[in-house]
Amino acid sequence: MTKITHFINGKSETGNSDRFQDVFNPATGTAEKSVVLATASDVDTAVVAAKAAWPKWSKTPALRRARILDRFKNILWERGDQLAEVISLEHGKTHDDALGEVTRGLEVVEFATSAPSFLKGEFSENVGTGVDSYMIRQSLGVCVGITPFNFPVMVPMWMFPVALATGNTFILKPSERDPSASILVAEWMTEAGLPDGVFNVVQGDRVAVDALLHHQDVKAVSFVGSTPIAKYIHQTGTANGKRVQALGGAKNHMVIMPDADLDMVANALMGAAFGSAGERCMAISVAVPVGDAVADALIEKLVPQIAALKIGPSVDPSSDMGPLITAQHLAKVEGYIDSGERDGAKIVVDGRNFKQKKQGYENGYYTGGTLMDRVTEDMQCYREEIFGPVLSIVRKNSYQEAVDLIHSHEYANGTAVFTRDGDVARNFSQDIEVGMVGINVPIPVPMAFHSFGGWKASIFGDHHMHGMEGVRFYTRIKTTTTRWPSGMRSNPEFAMPTLG
Ligand code: NAD
Repeated sequence: MTKITHFINGKSETGNSDRFQDVFNPATGTAEKSVVLATASDVDTAVVAAKAAWPKWSKTPALRRARILDRFKNILWERGDQLAEVISLEHGKTHDDALGEVTRGLEVVEFATSAPSFLKGEFSENVGTGVDSYMIRQSLGVCVGITPFNFPVMVPMWMFPVALATGNTFILKPSERDPSASILVAEWMTEAGLPDGVFNVVQGDRVAVDALLHHQDVKAVSFVGSTPIAKYIHQTGTANGKRVQALGGAKNHMVIMPDADLDMVANALMGAAFGSAGERCMAISVAVPVGDAVADALIEKLVPQIAALKIGPSVDPSSDMGPLITAQHLAKVEGYIDSGERDGAKIVVDGRNFKQKKQGYENGYYTGGTLMDRVTEDMQCYREEIFGPVLSIVRKNSYQEAVDLIHSHEYANGTAVFTRDGDVARNFSQDIEVGMVGINVPIPVPMAFHSFGGWKASIFGDHHMHGMEGVRFYTRIKTTTTRWPSGMRSNPEFAMPTLG
């Protein structure tokens, strides 16, 4: 069985752990690889390498750092298909979906190549007589990224391109469920000319995470994953003196106003709820039609489309969605449908007990698309994140009721409204207490030069990811005030200096 190792100081590293975890192909349900789970001493080896590489890398001209990232970006353009295949084999998502993930990650690399521009400081001449002042942004040191299974390439790339471009060194701790893509990325960065130790990968579980959170030489931690772990990472990291940004789970609502184009809404919902088998933090999992007539008409349009979803492995190009990540996650997702049914929701399309007939894939972790109507706020299937291809319909009678519903939920990652009414759209975007908003756009994931992040229990920490927020997170400001001998006064002054 193939062993997936760490990547430390420019090379593959097995470390000293005797703990391994199976990595499954979710399309077939077989364990095809095994990943090593780091010990605290493996983590220390990576931190030592990253710390040693930092002084030289941080002083490397930003343009030179950017050129290395540019070469890495070109490799990604050329070999995106190869990376997408690695993603699909361990995650299960379709090839086109995986390729889309690579492209969205690559766009952050593209943004990071403009480091010489965004690292330009500020200069003020004559802040006092003969006194000038300038502000620059400097790197922090060793930064860490801890990432989830659902975007094994894009989410790490929300982090490390900006961290490296700004002069930090980096340790990635990818999800142990789909760890192979991280190694390919590390090898390609080395090929692009990145010096050894600047980018490292440590494979592992909680042991590795805790060692990183407690290591005195780790300066900043970026995390994306579920809310309970995000909270834990933020609390533990900040208690250990680190800068932390921790993005958590989601429950994204789409409000459908009576004037919306329902064909457009149905198409948008199909992609947003069932794309990537619903395993996206920006998936729409709750549709909120305003008025029963809208709800009934929408359901009529959705039912045949959900029933016609092609569910299969990524190797079949006709698949609309693949399997879920693990057998445990499949059981959890279907458990939420059971609980919705018990609590009184109407199962309009039932994806449970879907049987994959394609030969060789019968034991994969597949579920069909599910549509639940008459879901209410008190139900567990509404309150909690399902993270599967399950769309709930919560009926509301007015725009205000829909907004109140969104505001009552603990998560606030993304949301959307579908309407032709400019006033409704404007009020929604201004007043809704959610971090990312779509107006007739179902999955409003910000581009690389803007920043990604939710509000409330979908984030812990002050900075969103990539764009200028990423630059702020990975740098600290230094302000220097200068005076040259000709401007100096001759006598000592003991009062607070002022312009006078
Ligand atoms: P997860 O929280 O289980 O794991 C994320 C990372 O944390 C992994 O690297 C994992 O090894 C580590 N981890 C898990 N348990 C830990 C523990 N007890 N102590 C320390 N570290 C631990 O998340 P997941 O299942 O891999 O990913 C799905 C979740 O991620 C969903 O909740 C989804 O909404 C969320 N997500 C959020 C965003 C966002 O931008 N807000 C983006 C993608 C995914």
